[in-house]
Amino acid sequence: MINVTKPYLPPKEEYQRYIDEIWGRCWLTNNGPLVNELELNLKDYLGLEHLLFLGNGTIAIQIAIKALQLKGEIITTPFSYVATTSSIVWENCKPIFVDIDENSLNIKPELIEKAITKKTSAILATHVFGIPCEIDKIEAIAKKHNLKVIYDAAHCFGSTYNGRSVLGFGDVSTCSFHATKIFHTIEGGAVVSNSSGLIYKMAKMRNFGHDGPARFAGVGINGKNSEFHAAMGLANLKHIAEIMATRKNQFFKYLKWIKKLDVYMPRPTQENVEWNHAYFPVIFPTEKKLLAAVKALNDHYIYPRRYFYPSLNLLEYVDAAECPVSESIAKRVLCLPIYHEMSDSTIDLVSRVLLRAQNYRNK
Ligand SMILES: *Cc1c(COP(=O)(O)O)cnc(C)c1O
Repeated sequence: MINVTKPYLPPKEEYQRYIDEIWGRCWLTNNGPLVNELELNLKDYLGLEHLLFLGNGTIAIQIAIKALQLKGEIITTPFSYVATTSSIVWENCKPIFVDIDENSLNIKPELIEKAITKKTSAILATHVFGIPCEIDKIEAIAKKHNLKVIYDAAHCFGSTYNGRSVLGFGDVSTCSFHATKIFHTIEGGAVVSNSSGLIYKMAKMRNFGHDGPARFAGVGINGKNSEFHAAMGLANLKHIAEIMATRKNQFFKYLKWIKKLDVYMPRPTQENVEWNHAYFPVIFPTEKKLLAAVKALNDHYIYPRRYFYPSLNLLEYVDAAECPVSESIAKRVLCLPIYHEMSDSTIDLVSRVLLRAQNYRNK
């Protein structure tokens, strides 16, 4: 069986060494030494000023919305994982969907301005599949209309814009370190900000609002993460350079085959972008062709995933909005298997099945 992804696991002894340390200290959670070490190492590796390690990437978005005190309407993308939208609704704000660019699959800045009303408080955009949004245009619009910007950078570990980590942009960027992401801590996430005031506030928020054992600096939640998760992060971070290099290699091996297929792939719409190639999304000409490809792959025990489907403007708990590009792409995009241990022969196999299915149909 070949799944869309397979989590990376570090050599067991390397994880075990951290676990032995935890046993020695009996400090399991609540801002322990491994959590601190992971935060420092991540900031160092990514070149970021402030970062807080959290329980997951969804609580990261919710804490960001809370810390920025967003109200009313948040302009957002319909093409993302459901957590981007559900976090807005969970925080009692209203998602206003703006359509995407068919090449980058990211929110189209040109459409944002028309969606701004008196009630708009922020823009929440996702850098889809690790390809950065048009950050400069979004910043300019936000500045002009006095809006906050949150980036859901869940896919962006290792992606850069103008030589800087994409995680360093916006008022707050959020990341996910879920087991399916290119860098993971089993479950985990982060908020990143250049504002020490915001970081201070979010640090309180992730720990119930505690400001000392018996004092509370406002309402908080449990957004903490544990020493065990930090240990997995520390062990994985030692291998991240190799993981990223391998992924890029695999991506280009796939690409050689995929060029022969009647599909296209998302691509950056701006210069000075390096992206992590974490996913291998292909866009078919029609949903029918996508479904035929899925069937052919499933027949060979290969399980791709329809990331992201459906378009989030069609969720039953949001107000109807028209996003024709996102709706169309969501029906036609398929993420093919790609993961650290995927061999060249498996890449060949997946590609051959797709090519055969296409040629058979065309006869
Ligand atoms: C994975 C993901 C999330 C959620 O992260 P979790 O850590 O699973 O909570 C949010 N947004 C996007 C775009 C994601 O891919």
